[in-house]
Amino acid sequence: MQKIVRLIIILPLLLAACSSAPSNEQSGKKTIVVTYSILGAVVKDLVGDQAVVVVPMPNGQDPHEWEPSAKDIEIITEADLIVQNGLSLEGGLEKTLAQAETSGVKTFIASDHITVRKVGQGEGIPSGDPDQSVGASDPHLWIDPLIMKQVVAALDDQLKTNLGLDVSNRAQDLENRLDELNSEIVAEVATLPEANRKLVTGHESMGYYAQRYGFKLVGAIVPSLTTQAEVSASDLAALKTLIQENQVKAVFTELGTSKVVSDAIGNETGVKVISLATHTLPPDGSYFTFLRNLTQSIVGALR
Ligand SMILES: [Zn+2]
Repeated sequence: MQKIVRLIIILPLLLAACSSAPSNEQSGKKTIVVTYSILGAVVKDLVGDQAVVVVPMPNGQDPHEWEPSAKDIEIITEADLIVQNGLSLEGGLEKTLAQAETSGVKTFIASDHITVRKVGQGEGIPSGDPDQSVGASDPHLWIDPLIMKQVVAALDDQLKTNLGLDVSNRAQDLENRLDELNSEIVAEVATLPEANRKLVTGHESMGYYAQRYGFKLVGAIVPSLTTQAEVSASDLAALKTLIQENQVKAVFTELGTSKVVSDAIGNETGVKVISLATHTLPPDGSYFTFLRNLTQSIVGALR
């Protein structure tokens, strides 16, 4: 008897839960899983309400190190399409992504559709880390709006072929807005004296931006393409010398930069230390606000 009473109480609750949040099967929409927040913002902008876009990694987490929970793994492996960055950005997700691909989930790798930037000669300070070596592929493709335009065009095609989704009008609009954003940044950077366009960052994350807008990459606190590498005392000593020789105006810290280390560099060189959001979306969730904020922080600090 008690069991029956319990069922009567639970059943309406279950039904209410189902009706208040229709599953994707019920809405008939495809689910696109994107591996990190910034790429996710662009994909959301591209598809609008024509598909459900899910980003399992919480905004503000470090994509270089984030690892999924069992629930996240389920979401990822049940997607209709996975959109990922590639070039080893999603270090903690590699096993899950491989597992999804093996089980037949379609995958779009953004870095397969762009001109990948390679680490250039004299860009970083000498280090034993293999990521640091000249010629390594830079995964930070989202820090250039024109690279993101290439990603949008390629994804637009793949959404048609793989999901039967036509978002070409939205793609055209988004590509136009990315062009405008690029022009805005060009104009903003033009207000900065050329001699001031020098970047020292938490890790080697700003290469695409430097290449597009004419900044010199002086060095990085963690001399690597990922936040996960080690910093040696000799690397830091070399970086301090570079900061002074280049008369760098500011040192930019990022997600994953050690505050103790960056404060020490600031104190010893007399250069201001500014926090820069390179891997995190702003509260409004917009890619456009993200790059505008980034540019304003850089131009403001180096003026
Ligand atoms: Zn990074």
